[in-house]
Amino acid sequence: EIEIRDLHKSFGDNHVLRGIDLEIAQGEVVCVIGPSGSGKSTLLRCVNLLEEPTKGQVVVGGTELTDPDVDIDAVRRRIGMVFQQFNLFPHLTVTENLTLPQRRVLRRDRAQAAKVAAENLERVGLTEKASAYPSSLSGGQQQRVAIARALAMGPEVMLFDEPTSALDPELVGDVLAVMRMLAQDGMTMMVVTHEMTFAREVADRVIFMDGGVIVEDGSPEQVITNPQHERTRHFLSRLL
Ligand code: ATP
Ligand code: MG
Repeated sequence: EIEIRDLHKSFGDNHVLRGIDLEIAQGEVVCVIGPSGSGKSTLLRCVNLLEEPTKGQVVVGGTELTDPDVDIDAVRRRIGMVFQQFNLFPHLTVTENLTLPQRRVLRRDRAQAAKVAAENLERVGLTEKASAYPSSLSGGQQQRVAIARALAMGPEVMLFDEPTSALDPELVGDVLAVMRMLAQDGMTMMVVTHEMTFAREVADRVIFMDGGVIVEDGSPEQVITNPQHERTRHFLSRLL
C-alpha cells in the first residue's frame, strides 16, 4: 500500500532523510521509533506531502505522490494524519469539527456528513460528546475526536505522529485502545511512538530510525526484544 524508495529530504544543508526504503502492505501496522531528530516526523510528513521529498519516490495505493502531475489534494484525502497536538477548531462543536472537512473537501451534503460524523464518534466512544466544545473535553477525548475526524474522511492509510505524547499518563490508554481497534479492523497504519508496550502488542513491524536512515526493520520481537544493532540497544535502554 505504501512504497518508499530511496527517499531523501534536506532542509538547506541539513540532510535529514538519507535514503529511506520501506514497503508497507495493506492492513499492516508499522511503528516507527528512534531518537529525537532522527527524522521520524519528516518521514511521516513526506508520506502525505506536508513536506516535499528532495529525492526519491513515495507511492501510496498505486499513486506516485512524487509525480509532479499528481493531484495532491486527492492523494491527501486518502491519507489521514493525527498529530501530537489535536488541532481541533475551538469554536466548533465536536460534530462540526467532523463535518466541516467532509463538506469542504469531499463536498458531502449536511446530512451525509452528519451521518458519517456520528458513525465515527461512536467508533471512538464519544457519541455523548457530539455537541460539546473541544475545551470541555479531556486531552484524551480531544485526541479521539481528532482520530474520528480523520476517519470520517474515509482514508486508506492512517499516519500517527506521537499521538499520546501530549497526554497525561492516565489518558493515554483510551487513545491507544482506539488505535488498537483500528489496527484490528485492518487499517494500514504508520505510528511514530514511544509506547513500547503498544508497539510490541499491536505492530506487525517496528522500524528503528537514527540519523535519517532505517537502522532496523523487523517484528517487535526482533527489534524491541532482540535488537541486532548497538544503536537500537542504546536507544531502548534509555527508554525502558
Ligand atoms: P522528535 O522525536 O523530536 O519528534 P523526529 O525524529 O520527529 O524528532 P524530525 O522532526 O523529523 O525528527 O526532525 C529531523 C531534523 O529535521 C531535525 O534536525 C529538525 O531540526 C529538522 N527539521 C524538521 N522539520 C524542519 C523544517 N520544517 N525546517 C527545517 N528543519 C526541519
Ligand atoms: Mg517528531
